[in-house]
Amino acid sequence: MRRTTVDLGIDLGTTNSAVAVLRGVQTEVIKNNDGQETTPSAVAIDRRQRLWVGQSARERSEHDPENTCLEFKLRMGTAGQDKRFAATGRTLSPEALSAEVLKSLRADAAGRLDEDVRAAVITVPAAFDLSACAATERAAALAGLEHTVLLQEPAAAAHAYGFQATDENATWLVYDFGGGTFDAAVIRLRDGEFSVVGHRGDNTLGGKLLDWRIVEELFIPAAVRQSPGLTGLERGNPRWFGAIAALKRAAEAAKIRLSRAATVTALADLPDDARRSHEFEYDLTRADLERLAEPFITRSVNLCRAALEELHLGAADIDKVIMVGGQTAMPYLRDRVADRQRGLGAALDFTQDPMTVVARGAAVFAGAQPLPAGWGAAVPEPGSCTVRCEYPRVGPDLDPVVVARVTTPDGAPAAGWSVELVNEESDPPWRSGRLTLTDQGAFTATLRAERGRQNTFHLRLTDPSGTRRPTAPDLLTYTVGAVEAEPMLTHAVGVGLADNQVRPLVERGARLPVRRTTPLRTTLTVQRGEAGGLIRIPVLEGEQPRADRNRTIGRIEVGAAEVARTVPAGSEVHLTIEIDASRLVRVSAFVPLLDETFETTVSLLSEPVLDTVRLADEVAAERDRLAHLRDRQRGVRSPVVELQLQRIVDEAIEEDLTRLLAAARADEGAAADADSRLRDLRLAVDAIEEELSWPELVGEAESLVIAARDLIAAHGSASDRGELPVFEQEINDAIEAREAGPLRMRCDRLREHLTRVLDRAGALQPLVFHQLVQERAAMRHPAQAERLIREGEAARDRGEQERLRSINLQLGDLLPGPPPPIDLSSTVESAG
Ligand code: ADP
Ligand code: MG
Repeated sequence: MRRTTVDLGIDLGTTNSAVAVLRGVQTEVIKNNDGQETTPSAVAIDRRQRLWVGQSARERSEHDPENTCLEFKLRMGTAGQDKRFAATGRTLSPEALSAEVLKSLRADAAGRLDEDVRAAVITVPAAFDLSACAATERAAALAGLEHTVLLQEPAAAAHAYGFQATDENATWLVYDFGGGTFDAAVIRLRDGEFSVVGHRGDNTLGGKLLDWRIVEELFIPAAVRQSPGLTGLERGNPRWFGAIAALKRAAEAAKIRLSRAATVTALADLPDDARRSHEFEYDLTRADLERLAEPFITRSVNLCRAALEELHLGAADIDKVIMVGGQTAMPYLRDRVADRQRGLGAALDFTQDPMTVVARGAAVFAGAQPLPAGWGAAVPEPGSCTVRCEYPRVGPDLDPVVVARVTTPDGAPAAGWSVELVNEESDPPWRSGRLTLTDQGAFTATLRAERGRQNTFHLRLTDPSGTRRPTAPDLLTYTVGAVEAEPMLTHAVGVGLADNQVRPLVERGARLPVRRTTPLRTTLTVQRGEAGGLIRIPVLEGEQPRADRNRTIGRIEVGAAEVARTVPAGSEVHLTIEIDASRLVRVSAFVPLLDETFETTVSLLSEPVLDTVRLADEVAAERDRLAHLRDRQRGVRSPVVELQLQRIVDEAIEEDLTRLLAAARADEGAAADADSRLRDLRLAVDAIEEELSWPELVGEAESLVIAARDLIAAHGSASDRGELPVFEQEINDAIEAREAGPLRMRCDRLREHLTRVLDRAGALQPLVFHQLVQERAAMRHPAQAERLIREGEAARDRGEQERLRSINLQLGDLLPGPPPPIDLSSTVESAG
């Protein structure tokens, strides 16, 4: 049968990849050349420039790690992460490496289907940032996939489980614990449509962390005990690459076998640094494994709970938990996730193979994606009329509506012709009846579809003389099934401004595609006739109010080849961002002053991972901050902080960081993991700091409000007095909602307002002067300071505002560091 929809789904995994095709309503996983349903995401290049992909490459990683690359998906879209293959000196970017895996899967699919494969749905983790999505798209293009649609992995899994559940209304949680990433997604199934309504993920949580724990905690000490020749064996030291890789492979194999057996013996041959081989043997028990897995499972359950909490849902609202990812085959993990107290307490569903379910679901979704016009169908018969149809390829309705327009070979509307749609596979065959085309050549038909298979409707076009005319395409297909309607944006997107502020562009959870415009101001003057960088700003992904707590995923540059007139600093620019359903980004900028729209380049490439020295410094700084906060907590004993501190312990974040830092000395992967775990620690510490500072913050806000009443009574106008309750209300709301960020912002706003009021009344400069005088002891050049203070007193007494302002500025310069903020709450009298 001729294909009209994409039909092919690829799970481009961190550890393993798979490809599946949709046939009717069934999916088939396409086996690779080795006869396997999954292909390891591994690439090797040997001395003779031969490129290996899959199992063969993965096996080489053991004895030849310098010429093999694994887990490159975690580095997609990040700058400076190219792999250099030592023997040939060739370097490949993460996207070029992914392209090799895609090529291999594409060849497997082409062989199985006996057709050229140019289109596919490719899944990406929901936690992927926009730069990683863009890199995936580029990888697909490199692999010869000209048309791709990206789908989030949890949504794919939901498609595999729920495609034919068109009558079900339910809420599911997809729990995906793979080799390198963890995703928890809440899926709502309503009237035959899915949507991912909530999500939490961790790009550095997966089965491989568990493998490393086995290696580091159990295998290395045992190996050194067993063979003195292995003394000094450690992760991250290039001398021991071969032995460490062999241990990691043994650890993973043993871990996988423990999903079936109660104890297993891990065996490996370990090369020492003189290339002598040492036999290694270890009896691994489930109890060992479970102990090591505990913090990782805890972290995953916490992420699930956070995803649910955000939607105000509890475990009771979840109809089932869909288990995805190879690691979910571990019995203890299943028990722990299902557990009422320590897990989610909801029923689990693992009826589909957790290793291939994402590829299957991607194929289901691919069945709903039309191929680009003119693709896929057989070469049209000469003299064919063109039919352009609009209708869902998959939907819950049994009688979907098709709207179409027919043009004759010379491009004219087929006005007054007639058309009939026929489903010959129905028993008896179903016919639409003859429909007469309008003057524009248009018709609307209501189809009748059957469940449980793909329905094919042949188009029968007749011209006014009653002659049958060929059409392209000559058939339509439709399947009754549930698919995702509008995907959700998993992280907020914004731009970073000066002062570490974030200007939000698109909020987390926005439905895609989305388009938003925001006004910004230029910071540099661009002269007339000059080539100009009007705006150059970092694009951020994340929800944190402080810019540096989010990921910088690229830069927007608005440049003009030449501006027609001078654009002064502070000019308005309207930035428009568009994100499509595959999460690909386009940006344009309109400058009202020039009345011109500029093309912008968005280079989405995340910032490179910190080098190990910086990493270690920053980790040490966070640890200090945490230790300091622990001390403060001892005096305060806040129950909330107690829980927050406990979570850091339960998830073993600090221990993880220590290990990753050690490994990062030689292992780029570990450096990236350490970077991401550092981010987790920093956010956790931020939250604790926020919590501990809350009483202080509230106290400050309350005295600010009292000071504001006095100041406005003394200096404000009637309208200032009228406005004050609005400020107060905002502040009280934030206190009630216990939101530190908004509270701080609203206090700042009130402070600014008060400053303006005081300035207008001529009371600001005397107040500032008063405060500066208190600081005289700290000023450099005491003689100059004294002179300025005397002049200031005179200016104040004569009421010379501008003179006093200038003196204040000069006095401020004499202070070490930036001038102190104006303290409005404590010096009310002196301002009066
Ligand atoms: P990814 O999505 O990252 O490509 P997969 O879903 O393919 O990952 O899962 C790979 C992970 O699952 C690896 O860490 C592997 O060790 C683990 N795994 C695979 N099979 C099993 C099993 N039977 N028991 C436990 N873990 C398994
Ligand atoms: Mg996966």
